[in-house]
Amino acid sequence: MSLIRKELLEILACPVDKAPLKELENEKKLLCTACGRKYPVKEGIPVMLVDEAELPEGKEGKKGS
Ligand SMILES: [Zn+2]
Repeated sequence: MSLIRKELLEILACPVDKAPLKELENEKKLLCTACGRKYPVKEGIPVMLVDEAELPEGKEGKKGS
């Protein structure tokens, strides 16, 4: 069982770095393979918004930019 259709996953990319995404089925999220952000999937629809994404642990306290 997949969160979203495979064809959809193939065309999606992280809005930050355009990297491909990986499904995290138990978390119902899509993981960016580059920056590690996790995008929620709501009712089968991936929410590809940077504001909605979860940052990976250890990067949240980063200073600058
Ligand atoms: Zn990314």
